Amino acid sequence: MIAHNTPVWDDDPAWVPLAPLDGDADCDICVIGLGGSGLVAVRELRAQSVDVIGLDAVDVGAGAAGRNGGLLLAGLADFHHDAVRVLGHDAAVSSYRRTLTELDAIFAEFPDCTRRTGSLRIAASDAEHADCRAQLAQLQADGFPAEWYCGAEGEGLLIPSDGVMQPLRRVRAMARAALAAGARLHGGTNVHAVHGKSVVTARGTIRCWRVIVAVDGRLEALLPELAPRVRTARLQMLATAPSPECQIPRPVYWRDGFEYWQQLPDGSIALGGFRDTDREHEWTHDAIPSASIQQRLETFLRARIGSGSPITHRWAASVSYTLTGLPISEEVRDGVFAIGAYSGTGNIVGALCAREAADWATRA
Ligand SMILES: Cc1cc2nc3c(=O)[nH]c(=O)nc-3n(C[C@H](O)[C@H](O)[C@H](O)COP(=O)(O)OP(=O)(O)OC[C@H]3O[C@@H](n4cnc5c(N)ncnc54)[C@H](O)[C@@H]3O)c2cc1C
Repeated sequence: MIAHNTPVWDDDPAWVPLAPLDGDADCDICVIGLGGSGLVAVRELRAQSVDVIGLDAVDVGAGAAGRNGGLLLAGLADFHHDAVRVLGHDAAVSSYRRTLTELDAIFAEFPDCTRRTGSLRIAASDAEHADCRAQLAQLQADGFPAEWYCGAEGEGLLIPSDGVMQPLRRVRAMARAALAAGARLHGGTNVHAVHGKSVVTARGTIRCWRVIVAVDGRLEALLPELAPRVRTARLQMLATAPSPECQIPRPVYWRDGFEYWQQLPDGSIALGGFRDTDREHEWTHDAIPSASIQQRLETFLRARIGSGSPITHRWAASVSYTLTGLPISEEVRDGVFAIGAYSGTGNIVGALCAREAADWATRA
């Protein structure tokens, strides 16, 4: 039987969902959204003994942070040579360096749910082959680890500093650590309205000094002033039973990253992609898998990856995009700092934005 809209990562029967907020409460800082980004903000704030309440409409990792491809990639959503063009050389190099430092921190902090395997960007066309060469040249010119790759997966780039993780395990570990460090975290608590000094939910109002909104998908629903710059899309994945016929030691980024897959330690394959093939339907706040994208994923799994194993999971989640490809990380209302819109690659950049948000929140 196929688990419908449950990610392959949801493998811990001992996990107990967070209890809802019960009535009004006071704190210094309220963090909305308990994905990887919100939980990094909570951790940074608790490290400074700040009194924090974290809220999630559903539970820890219920959004993209617990339902993603698990690729841990250095750099921004744009490939490094594109980022140089958009941001300028020094800013792009500095951003890339910060993501490398964050990667090191994640591998060190979560040895049980990460693997530093390196990653592959494999060219799907002649044009992409040339683009991989341009990316490699820029990375090497700037002294970042990268080499040309030619192997069973195809031809392209190998980035040895990258890796993979079990994303839901990471965020649950972060939530457990935050609770142990004294943070108050609540699931099942949808936020209706955010003001500088209060956060309104159906279960009570939080009075606080400042608010961090750490929501990727549907960010513009909670903060409508961001709607001109932020748009939500659905991303879809599937996973298989162990596929011993495949040997995929590193995660693969293919066709400019529209498709991505990794083989898990038990041999299963987790594969995502094809958002652009039904673009108008995938710009949606709905986060349920669709038949058309799932069919494309399945065809690709069989024909390109070569797995014949049964499909065990199909799922989807929301993320948001900006026109520039740069994330939102700014004070959007007096006393409200928003982070999100990572344009499909927020595992590392989300953590960096969360550090910025925590710095802002504790500034006098
Ligand atoms: C299928 C898929 C594959 C991906 N693959 C990768 C990848 O391989 N590598 C990579 O780097 N990135 C990947 N991404 C993107 C990455 O997962 C996200 O950018 C990142 O996880 C965002 O984390 P977050 O904590 O910022 O937000 P989210 O995980 O979206 O967390 C936000 C939380 O806020 C809660 N929330 C929302 N609205 C409210 C509200 N009104 N009140 C209270 N709570 C609310 C949600 O329930 C959710 O738990 C992928 C995303 C998807 C969907």
